[in-house]
Amino acid sequence: MAKVKVASDWLAGCAGCHMSLLDIDERIVDLLKAADLTSTPITDLKHPPAEGVDVGILEGAVNNSATERVAQLMRSRCKILIALGDCAVFGGVPALRNRVCMKEALRRAYIETESTTDGAIPSDPELATMQECRPVGDVVEVDIHVPGCPPSADAIFHVLKELVEGRKPVLNGKFLDWH
Ligand code: SF4
Repeated sequence: MAKVKVASDWLAGCAGCHMSLLDIDERIVDLLKAADLTSTPITDLKHPPAEGVDVGILEGAVNNSATERVAQLMRSRCKILIALGDCAVFGGVPALRNRVCMKEALRRAYIETESTTDGAIPSDPELATMQECRPVGDVVEVDIHVPGCPPSADAIFHVLKELVEGRKPVLNGKFLDWH
């Protein structure tokens, strides 16, 4: 039987969700009997993935044109898209910056403070365009949210195992740690 292709990528956040993913520990060996990790930012495997991924895992929120593009690519290339973490669900920690006036913050950082840009706000077209921080579901359709900051390794493992074995995952209270 063909292995399930799994890809992961991250957006704005702190990578804590990826640490939780790694906390699956040796159970990942079981998963990899039936799944192939095709792309991820934590190895030198290319990301975002090529076409034809079965299960995509996104962590964090969308906060600029670059992360918006990653979310769109993952959505278009993955049959099932999982969004990990509170950042993905409602913006979480990175969305705190939505309360800050970005123009004013850039002015303070580059014009009022000594900087390497000689008092100019960087405007290189290669730079990502800053946006209001948004949950992933506001940008692309998400099939499964795994909330938590970070979500538990048990919750992530449960969702992946169910999908890899062809079942629809249900996240009940025992997997959700509401502190
Ligand atoms: Fe980090 Fe929490 Fe956001 Fe995950 S949900 S990326 S752990 S801040």
